[in-house]
Order: sequence, then structure tokens, then C-alpha cells
Amino acid sequence: MQNDNLRHAGMPSTQENLSATIRNMAQAHGFALCRITRPEIADKHRKSLDDWVKNGMHGDMAWMAEDERMSRRKLPENMLKGVQTVISLGMRYLPPAYSLTEANTAQGRGVISSYAQGDDYHDYMKKRLKAFARDLDTVLGKHNQRVYVDTAPVLEHALAEDAGIGWQGKHSLSIDRQFGSWFFLGEIFTSASLQPDAPATHHCGSCSACIDVCPTRAIVAPFVVDARLCISYLTIEHKGIIPRKLRPLMGNRIYGCDDCQLVCPWNNEVALPENDYLEVRKENILPELVSLLALDEADFREFFRKSPVKRIGRARFIRNCCVAAGNSNQETLLPSLLALLDDDSPLVRGHAVWAVGRLEKRENIVLLNELQCRKNTENDIEVHEDIRITIRLLEENV
Ligand code: SF4
Ligand code: SF4
Repeated sequence: MQNDNLRHAGMPSTQENLSATIRNMAQAHGFALCRITRPEIADKHRKSLDDWVKNGMHGDMAWMAEDERMSRRKLPENMLKGVQTVISLGMRYLPPAYSLTEANTAQGRGVISSYAQGDDYHDYMKKRLKAFARDLDTVLGKHNQRVYVDTAPVLEHALAEDAGIGWQGKHSLSIDRQFGSWFFLGEIFTSASLQPDAPATHHCGSCSACIDVCPTRAIVAPFVVDARLCISYLTIEHKGIIPRKLRPLMGNRIYGCDDCQLVCPWNNEVALPENDYLEVRKENILPELVSLLALDEADFREFFRKSPVKRIGRARFIRNCCVAAGNSNQETLLPSLLALLDDDSPLVRGHAVWAVGRLEKRENIVLLNELQCRKNTENDIEVHEDIRITIRLLEENV
């Protein structure tokens, strides 16, 4: 059937030529990495997924543990009937323009993960994948296919490893020897049968830099990230209050976290990608917290137009900024935080109270009285708790 397709398209007749042609086409669509694998998930990856979910490491991403989604992840044929091949693709993005030390010492500034400093990659990649998939018809003939980016129940790092795109590092992300880990993954599932590439080999060796640097100790064992502790999860996926004991460990990260990638030796001296497809915006590189804390709903939507940050909504984002402000040691941020004590969102109010308690170093009678009044009128149980803890802290600052 496939050879008929190739004859029909008048294109390369050998599998090697065909793979090379597909790779060239992928490159033209912006995918620096393109490899082919069977739609099968190795036992070790299935077991890792089962253990991860069984141990509750998916946190409040309940959808990840749903039976149907689990079975789709483990059996790609449940995603596309008759699927014979997965084309795994990687699109590079710009690494951070600063070192980890520069990020940690950027006073009064927040850190947005580098992949989120420009346009939303989901939209961009999907368009690119669809265009590439359409072009594939010209070499493969008509066949069934679907494209996926991140949000679908696809074990993309496992497939990328089996396809030879890159091995899954101890921080759980895919690493390519030439490009490091600064790339997005996407997949095309197709009913066309193509020759698979060789799987990736592992090159972490005895390194443990990512495990050692992780501020919240989220990499609980090599290759196992407990999402409940990971700053990426806490600042993006997690909808509720951020556990109080984790807040001081989060530093100034306000959307995602690149720490484990920044220290990875495979990201040292990686040549920059030729294109900045997502158009990194200067204002998203270490933005000033004082400006972010002042964003109202309309400002937030405008500031993060077309950005993935917009997806989490203003309340969650300002929550993250309050945590960063509380960790900043910058008393100049106190007026911005005090203004948020009246915010409509209890999520914002609670984290603002916590941040005020971290920054106010004296016993401040005016503030204490203010918080006592709010304690009597606050209806939200979590905000109430933050007020109670902050009053106690201020009383100890004598
Ligand atoms: S993203 Fe940050 S918090 Fe999450 S595992 Fe990496 S270093 Fe740790
Ligand atoms: S920092 Fe070291 S252990 Fe972690 S992913 Fe990179 S090479 Fe592997």
C-alpha cells in the first residue's frame, strides 16, 4: 500500500530516501528535529506513568489520571485508529537570555520561563504541524493522520526517546546532543507505514546537576518529577493556594521554571536557533514586579495578548507575583501588595497578605490594626489563615 502511495506521488522509492525527504520537509516547516517511530509505548514508560499517577504526583491535574486518558497515553492506537507510525518533531526556541545567577539576583524582578516569553507555542506549533501534515500527502499519498502538541494524552517524551529525538533526562525533559533541551515536542500520528529510526541513547551519566539545583526538591529520584513540588506546576497548572511551606523556596519565578535546564551541561554552548518563531518580547524578560502587581484584568489581558501566560488568568498570575514579591526582600513593593489586600480574588488577597508579612520587618502597629480588622471581616478560610499567620509574624518582629 505504501509503495503504491510512493509510486503515485512519484517521490523517493527507498525508505532511506523517504525518511530524508520527510526530515527535509520538516526542517522547512521549522522543525529542526524529526524522527520516526512505531506507535508503541515501551513497558518502562508505561510503568513509570502508572507509578507516577499511583503516587499522586500529578497533583490536582485529575484529568491525567482518568482511565480513558491513561489508556490513550499507553496505547497510541487509541488516539488514531489504524495508526502505523508516529513522526516525532522538535521545534527549537530561544534559551533564556540570562544565567541562573542573573535570574536569581534580579532584584524586584520576576522570571517567566523562556518558552513563554513570546507568543503561545501551542497555537503556533499546531499551525506548523498541520501545514507539514498536508505536505506529507504529496510524498505519502492520502492517509489518515492527526497532529498533537502537548495538551493531548500522548506520552511525547517517551515517543521522542524511542524515535531517537532525544533521551529523557533526569529532569524528565528530552535532550538532544546538539540542541540541548530547549525545544518543544509535537507529533504526527499517521496510518502510513514508515521505517522507524533508532532510539536515543542516554547521556546523563553520573551527572545530578538538575536534581541538586531544584529549589523545591521536586526531582524526587532520577527521571521522576513530583509535579506537586515543581515550580512549573505550582505556577501554571495549580489553581489554588500555593502551599505555604513551598512559597519561600520559589524565589522570583512567576511562570514556569527553567532552573533544571539552565544547569544541564547539555545546554552549555548550544548554538542559538536560526529563527525566533515565537518572537520573544523584551518586556517579558525579567519583568519588574512592581508593574506586574499593578495589572488589573484588562491590563493583564492586553499585556499578555497571544502569550501562554494569558491562559492561567490574572488571579493565578498575580498570586505568583505576590509570592515572588514576598521573596524579594524589596520593601519598596509593600505599597503594591497592600493595594492587593482589597482585590476581588481571595487567591490574590491571601498571597498578598503572606507577602506583606515577609517584607515588613518591623512591628508595624498600623498594619497590625489593619490586619486585625480584616481578620474579623474576611470570609475566605484560606485568606483568613494567611492573615492569622501574618499577624503572628508581625507581632514577633519586635
Ligand atoms: S522546573 Fe524547576 S522546580 Fe521543576 S523540577 Fe525543574 S528545577 Fe525543579
Ligand atoms: S543536568 Fe545532568 S542529570 Fe540532569 S538532565 Fe542534564 S545531564 Fe541529565
